[in-house]
Amino acid sequence: MKYISTRGAAPALSFEETMLTGLARDGGLYVPESWPRMSRDEIAALAGLEYEEVAHRVMRPFVGDAFAEDELRAIIADAYASFDHPARCPLVQIGANEWIQELHHGPTLAFKDVAMQLIGRLFQASLARRGERVTIIGATSGDTGSAAIEAFRGLDAAEVFILFPKGRVSEVQRRQMTTPADANVHALAVEGDFDDCQALVKAAFNDHAFRDRARLAAVNSINWARVLAQTVYYFTAATALGAPWRAVSFSVPTGNFGDIFAGYVARRMGLPIGRLVIATNRNDILHRTVQSGEHRRQGVAPTISPSMDIQVSSNFERLLFDLLDRDGPAVARLMDELRGQGGFSLPQGALERLRAEFDSARCDEDQTLATIADIHAATGLVIDPHTAVGVHAARAARGDRAAPMVVLGTAHAAKFPDAVERACGVRPALPARMADLFERPERVRDLPNDLDALRRAVLSALEGDGA
Ligand SMILES: *Cc1c(COP(=O)(O)O)cnc(C)c1O
Repeated sequence: MKYISTRGAAPALSFEETMLTGLARDGGLYVPESWPRMSRDEIAALAGLEYEEVAHRVMRPFVGDAFAEDELRAIIADAYASFDHPARCPLVQIGANEWIQELHHGPTLAFKDVAMQLIGRLFQASLARRGERVTIIGATSGDTGSAAIEAFRGLDAAEVFILFPKGRVSEVQRRQMTTPADANVHALAVEGDFDDCQALVKAAFNDHAFRDRARLAAVNSINWARVLAQTVYYFTAATALGAPWRAVSFSVPTGNFGDIFAGYVARRMGLPIGRLVIATNRNDILHRTVQSGEHRRQGVAPTISPSMDIQVSSNFERLLFDLLDRDGPAVARLMDELRGQGGFSLPQGALERLRAEFDSARCDEDQTLATIADIHAATGLVIDPHTAVGVHAARAARGDRAAPMVVLGTAHAAKFPDAVERACGVRPALPARMADLFERPERVRDLPNDLDALRRAVLSALEGDGA
């Protein structure tokens, strides 16, 4: 399997190179040159298998010969051994034919662990084989950073720099990033919002001299291996609920469009997904895009679901590539418009295709709080604000009640205790293994919103003079 850039002007790469590179050199994102299909029988055979086995069968065609069969199996097994539930991503029923798939059973309590635990190990195996070392630079709206740090800390093969928007992540999220003591981990608090952090990371990658000197790698949701690892739970959930014999719908709390794009990939592979609902908070660029065909950024408003406080959804470019018949130069033109003029209009045919693939709904702050309270009153479950956005959107966009609806539960409530307590009166406790999080010393460095400052911080750490 070869991977090509969404902007059509970077060399095609293997799975391993795509994973180690992240962003393409023409500024685009890598996607498979074609979508591998699973037959109905192959999908039916997934029902009841262990999560790890499903992961192997779903990912294998994309990985090709980058990892030997046994090596890939061992890496998958090791990655998910860190999860605290035997089903890894279990389903919990919350209503008539309505479910939450809990994706928060990994080490940092958000769904980012599902992919990150795996790719940390894939990177390690691959870099050890090549005798190489990389510098990972990532922007985070809160959860990616801690998941990346947890997956890469202490590894010889990687130095890790995580940029988060100062003052705009929850205290639990911040402490998860600033308390690991490993010398290869650097938490950077940026004066700006998440989009500023993401723009800094992109700018660092587009500085090819710096990129090569520091051997930059990206593990943000732009990394193809992350998207791939996330397709797996769509298969486990859907086959548990009757696929391929009936279609199953999903509602996905969406920020950078990585998680829901994984659902789109599962559908391209042949999984019968009914509705695929883009659930947004107040930062609703994607909802507005589906409704109006105008993809136009506004300012980011802070919310109680901070991991979705995003206006530039990087992975939307991957969808755009398909919506535009895989015309790289056309994608590049629209992305230039987005950067230069703050937005673009989808061509008519592309808008029709977008609407054929996705529904969308927006959930404001009051609706988020009310949904947490409703679910608690009806079921006793305490859900986090991101998951609540997904539940609200599922209910707003739900058509056929006979089709199962799965809401992706993207975080543990204990990551956002203030909002959850305000909503339902229950203050969710951290799991015992993290109970001393508030006592651990923090290590963090402030960073102005400036590329030169980022380059200096990275090079000084790599060259060993300073933090
Ligand atoms: C990252 C994140 C999201 C958004 O996922 P995307 O892949 O960026 O769309 C939603 N909820 C939580 C808790 C997250 O950490």
